[in-house]
Amino acid sequence: MAVAKLFRSFPGVGSSDNARYGSVAVITANDANRRLEVLDDFEHAGIGWLWATDAEFRLIYISENAAEKLSRPIEELLAQPLNALFETDSGTSGDRSDRPLNFQLTARNKIVDQTVRFALNSKQDEGRHTWWSISGHPKFDKSGNFQGYRGSAKDITVEYERKLVDSRLAEFDSLTGLANRHRMDKKLESILSAYKSAKRSCTLIMLDLDRFKHVNDTLGHPAGDDLLCQVARRLERVVGARGEIGRLGGDEFQIILPDLDDRGKLGELANKIIQIVSQPYTIDDKRATIGTSVGIAISPYDGIDKLDLIHNADLALYAAKNGGRGQFRFYSADLKDEAEERRLLEEGLRDALANELLELHYQPVVRTEDNMVVTFEALMRWEHPERGTIGPDVFVPIAEESDLINQIGAWALNKACQDAMKWPKSVRVAVNVSAAQFAHSDLIYIVTHALETSGLEPNRLELELTESVFMGDGETIDDIFRALKELGVRLALDDFGTGYSSLSYLRSAPFDKIKVDRTFVDSCTQKDQNSAKIIAAIIGLSDALGMETTVEGVEAFDQLEVVKSKGARFIQGWIYSKALTQETVLHRLKCGDLSIEPDGPERHRPERRSVFRRIGVIHDDHRYDALMRNLSKTGALIDGLLGVPEGTGLVLDLGGGQLVVCTVTRAQDAMIAVEFETPLVSDGAGGLCTRHRVSPYILAAAAIPGAPHTKPQFMQVAAVSGHSVMDFQD
Ligand code: C2E
Ligand code: CA
Ligand code: CA
Repeated sequence: MAVAKLFRSFPGVGSSDNARYGSVAVITANDANRRLEVLDDFEHAGIGWLWATDAEFRLIYISENAAEKLSRPIEELLAQPLNALFETDSGTSGDRSDRPLNFQLTARNKIVDQTVRFALNSKQDEGRHTWWSISGHPKFDKSGNFQGYRGSAKDITVEYERKLVDSRLAEFDSLTGLANRHRMDKKLESILSAYKSAKRSCTLIMLDLDRFKHVNDTLGHPAGDDLLCQVARRLERVVGARGEIGRLGGDEFQIILPDLDDRGKLGELANKIIQIVSQPYTIDDKRATIGTSVGIAISPYDGIDKLDLIHNADLALYAAKNGGRGQFRFYSADLKDEAEERRLLEEGLRDALANELLELHYQPVVRTEDNMVVTFEALMRWEHPERGTIGPDVFVPIAEESDLINQIGAWALNKACQDAMKWPKSVRVAVNVSAAQFAHSDLIYIVTHALETSGLEPNRLELELTESVFMGDGETIDDIFRALKELGVRLALDDFGTGYSSLSYLRSAPFDKIKVDRTFVDSCTQKDQNSAKIIAAIIGLSDALGMETTVEGVEAFDQLEVVKSKGARFIQGWIYSKALTQETVLHRLKCGDLSIEPDGPERHRPERRSVFRRIGVIHDDHRYDALMRNLSKTGALIDGLLGVPEGTGLVLDLGGGQLVVCTVTRAQDAMIAVEFETPLVSDGAGGLCTRHRVSPYILAAAAIPGAPHTKPQFMQVAAVSGHSVMDFQD
């Protein structure tokens, strides 16, 4: 039959001599018929099949059993090109050691145990695949003309799919379906080594969820699992096809973004991730909210090999968390010092608490109608023996990272209540309560204790909470709010407009007051009026909900006017007063009435960052040293160069590969003002950085010294003293 005919052309197949080895009848090479019987038996046994093609790789023979097994009539298979019937497996296993079948055939290579997939699986097969392992030899005639392939095949579907499942398990997180640490590591490693020679960039983002543990503990592990899956889906939505997302374990996620190093875009992406992860979740009809912090490191700038990059992204993540959660940070070289600095501060803070080096200062909240003080907000200060006064912006986040915040918070509540007892009854005291304190089970007890020991009436105590208290599981949060209301204390929503700003918080929680964040006041005098409109809208909203509004951070008369015209009835800001010591408060109270006249500059000037940083200024092929006096997104003030005409094009070297092209807009003595060609972007830590950096490879190449071709055109001088900077700005 068919096999017989075909394989007769194989050498040695042909005659039919019988042979005996003693009593055993063996089949000799010459016994073609019996050899064919064996082949037939082999085919029928289903252990394997035989196939053959012509010189155009069209199938001219295939075992009938094979066709049966493929559920295809043999006529559909015969005469088809082999590579149309079978595909090389490429994506699924990640193992691409097999060259494509097509390549092997056209190269007339020997095919050895190649795994291929039957390409004609139909719809009825419901996505099931048939996997074969095939082997084959090219066949040539005597004059060396290629005749086609002769080969064998066997079905390996069961074993192969098991292998696929195993390798999936080994590479993917079974809970979220995201890549696991192993896969992310492998991937990062291979990208970085490939990109090293191609000098391409790759960004690594580390994420860690804030308050996940709390949700897990209160709502239970299945709820925690559900939450992690929802986070994974949200991350996929934001990141899309731009990169690969992995879950490293627990509530730690990682994202690899090849070919993306624009820190403007990365900052936007990080903010989007933070926002989307911070939206409330529904888990079994319950509500939960978490946050996330994001650390970013970019290769090759922040690390060339895998371990460096991971370590630096981790450092950035750590800094982001310490910066007050819900933030992103880019890695920068000073983060290493920052970590050490924080450790020292944490130690110092423990001492400060024990040795009563913490103080509360009180900033008045004034009623605009009659300039009367209605509340004092308690703001904490740390009198450091060597460093002088340290602000809460620095030490509160450190306290929040450790258990210290609860002790410090309890101390502040007690102290503020006691101090307030010495003020007129018409004046309230406001105390900041951090989210970490809010979630602590002792909060109600601590507040009760502070009220009882001081004797302060509960409605004279106002607790200032930020939106981050809503992180965690909804029910526990509702319970805490209920208990606080039962105590009779007032509640204010602080920094409104900066955080998650979900209006549902306002509906669900019993606030007496909203405090409009200072950032809106900062920009309320801008021409576009956007911030002014937002202030008006927040005041309208809180009126409608029967709440009071305090507008924070009014410094100048032009701001006061805008804010008042938008309906602000309570204002807290330097235009009335900075925070005062209790001593000063008592002294003022003794001297006179409780009203304060506004006093401050006529017009608000946008904050300039005083930086005093050494930078390089490059012009032609000369590099000058200079001092950067201040820096904004669009320009800088530079000290130390004489004779630079207005309109000169310069390049500033801000360090770490940050080169900025700029033009001189003003020059006076050794001071020049420059405007940047492209604006800087936020570095996530309140500072600024360039979108792009010059890669260390190029920097290394450029460091090869060569003699300048021209004479320097400007004169480098020592930086002038501070006061002339002010003159220059006016
Ligand atoms: P906050 O609750 O938003 O407090 C208002 C901050 O704005 C204070 O900064 C205050 O000095 C500042 N400020 C007020 N008016 C103006 C103004 O017109 N212009 C400018 N530029 N700033 C103004 P401070 O005292 O450095 O406190 C920073 C943050 O630290 C506070 O922000 C609060 O979140 C936190 N904090 C302060 N004391 C405590 C405390 O006892 N416990 C906790 N948990 N956090 C505290
Ligand atoms: Ca506050
Ligand atoms: Ca505030």
